[in-house]
Amino acid sequence: MTGSPPGSDLDTIVSRTRHLLLDFDGPICSIYAGLPAATVADRLRKLFGDHAQLPKEIARTADPLEVFAYAAAVSEDLAARVETEMTGQELAAVATAAPTPYVHEVVTACHNSGRSVAVVSNNSAAAVHSYLARHGLDDRISIVVARTNHDHAFLKPSPHLITQAVHALNAEPAECTLVGDSVTDVQATRLANVESIGYANQPGKGERLTAAGAGAIINSLADLAIALRAYVVNPELLQLSLRLFSRARLRRARPTGLGRPREGCAG
Ligand SMILES: [Mg+2]
Repeated sequence: MTGSPPGSDLDTIVSRTRHLLLDFDGPICSIYAGLPAATVADRLRKLFGDHAQLPKEIARTADPLEVFAYAAAVSEDLAARVETEMTGQELAAVATAAPTPYVHEVVTACHNSGRSVAVVSNNSAAAVHSYLARHGLDDRISIVVARTNHDHAFLKPSPHLITQAVHALNAEPAECTLVGDSVTDVQATRLANVESIGYANQPGKGERLTAAGAGAIINSLADLAIALRAYVVNPELLQLSLRLFSRARLRRARPTGLGRPREGCAG
């Protein structure tokens, strides 16, 4: 069991979080659900040319970002060509990407509890925006900080993208928490001085994310949505939602269309 029980680190972190930063591939969706990552990695490897001597791990990896990292180590020109192709593949993959269970509940819980949401991703900004628009999240997620060029050094585990998001939110690092499913996400949060929640969406990930220094581990975004609902940032917002809730409950309790007289008006 790697999930955080009630009264745990997850509650403590969420209670201090004013801005939730979500990694894209993993916490928001599985971008390569329909177009396999391994196919994309193969397409990227072709750009190295037939005679390129690739290290074994790069020749075999199913992770397009690892192929891109190697291209960046070879030359700027190759990095630019691989990045352009990868952006095209990511945009194509958006059509068959699978939403992560409960991600919409997490975004709603953030809104209802007075928190803002941003995306911080090594995937292309174009693909992230395309996905958010397609799934009705574009007007609910204020800021996207993601890959916009072939400069690999700016991507996580560098703190660069997270720090950019913190500035764009006009926030303090201590008010921000990143939810990520990779060790590089956690490493980037530590360098950027923001809190982290590891999303352990595969067996063994919880241990790796914990070892990297994740502040808490969740196995399902449902746990995060519940914790967000429990800790409201802005008390005025809580009062507003309570008023709306009791008004809606009153409407449900009253028989509709009968025009039942109010107390004191019957006689
Ligand atoms: Mg990820």
